[in-house]
Amino acid sequence: MIPFNKPYLTGKEAHYMYEAVFTGKLSGNGMFTQRCQTYFEQRYGFRKCLLTTSCTDALEMAAILCNVKPGDEVIIPSYTFVSTALAFVRQGATIIFADSQIQHPNIDADLIESLITPRTKVIVPVHYAGMACDMDKIMALAAKYNLLVVEDAAQAVDSFYNSKQQAASTKSLGSIGHLAAFSFHETKNLISGEGGMLAINDERFIHRAEIIWEKGTNRAEFFRGEVNKYSWVDIGSSFLPSEVIAAFLWAQIEHLDDIQAKRKEHWNRYYEALKLLADKGFFKLPELPVSATNNAHMFYLIFPSLEERTTFINTLKNNDIWAVFHYLSLHSSPYYADKHDGRVLANCDRFADCLVRLPLFYELSESDLEKIIETIKGVYSVHSNK
Ligand SMILES: *Cc1c(COP(=O)(O)O)cnc(C)c1O
Repeated sequence: MIPFNKPYLTGKEAHYMYEAVFTGKLSGNGMFTQRCQTYFEQRYGFRKCLLTTSCTDALEMAAILCNVKPGDEVIIPSYTFVSTALAFVRQGATIIFADSQIQHPNIDADLIESLITPRTKVIVPVHYAGMACDMDKIMALAAKYNLLVVEDAAQAVDSFYNSKQQAASTKSLGSIGHLAAFSFHETKNLISGEGGMLAINDERFIHRAEIIWEKGTNRAEFFRGEVNKYSWVDIGSSFLPSEVIAAFLWAQIEHLDDIQAKRKEHWNRYYEALKLLADKGFFKLPELPVSATNNAHMFYLIFPSLEERTTFINTLKNNDIWAVFHYLSLHSSPYYADKHDGRVLANCDRFADCLVRLPLFYELSESDLEKIIETIKGVYSVHSNK
């Protein structure tokens, strides 16, 4: 069976974990944590980074920092992972689910303004497949209505957005909203098993973020020698990972460029090989949104119907290839259906029914990749002259 995903090890993970263990500093916020955080701050222009034990945790920190309270409304795409919404639901928020664009699972930024009410507090764009949402529009709305923006950049490490605002510029995803959350889950481009990071771009949040990160205490300041004892000063939790996890992540970071290059190679091969079938209308290929870059997090196809997708997945399975569908609409999930306001989110439902992801991971061999491509071509008999 060609797996859907295989976590890639660069080779240095165990070495750095050994180093972390034998320096005797096992808890969080040590040398490896700081190395990782500084790397991301410098390379991508995030004002301040804090490693977390997951992206879910980073989103929970963001929800606390945004001071989301019962009755507040948060605008979130329905086509996303549970955590995007869950983190805000835990603060008592009402989630206003937004539909996707017609051609891309990302939130349709043109719909957002109609969803804003006096109770709206936060917009959470999710950069699906690591491809940027329309951040110029979203940030303009946030400025106009005085809202906060938390980017769910779980899939978006090393991806960019070409802003067309007055000072046109290329910005890394996660550096645009007030806050952003990344994931290093083993299914993402950079991994640490479970792991994540909060990027803080708005200075106002930095001080409190460190406190929330360390169980509501000012321990980070204490370690820097800024205060001579630390105390309980706010709410929070144990959001920081141990040094062993940070050490693992550091080994991955050292190979980031190599990982990205290899994934893009695979992605481009799929795209070129399947273009002819897409032109014939059997399915659609991923469409890069305007102003977005591709970080090769995911390669997906969109079928005309649920039936055709099911047949496709089964055919691949019969050929020992594991392709998988993705999100189910959160607005009609068992947990949220009776809380949703009843709006139909047709594009989101279509992606839930019709989108399928193909195997894409560093160690996907050329022969396996060609086998997948040939199997797909075989489904549509492009080889036969009949
Ligand atoms: C993976 C993912 C998450 C959750 O990440 P964890 O690190 O597993 O908590 C959240 N949002 C999106 C869009 C994701 O893809």
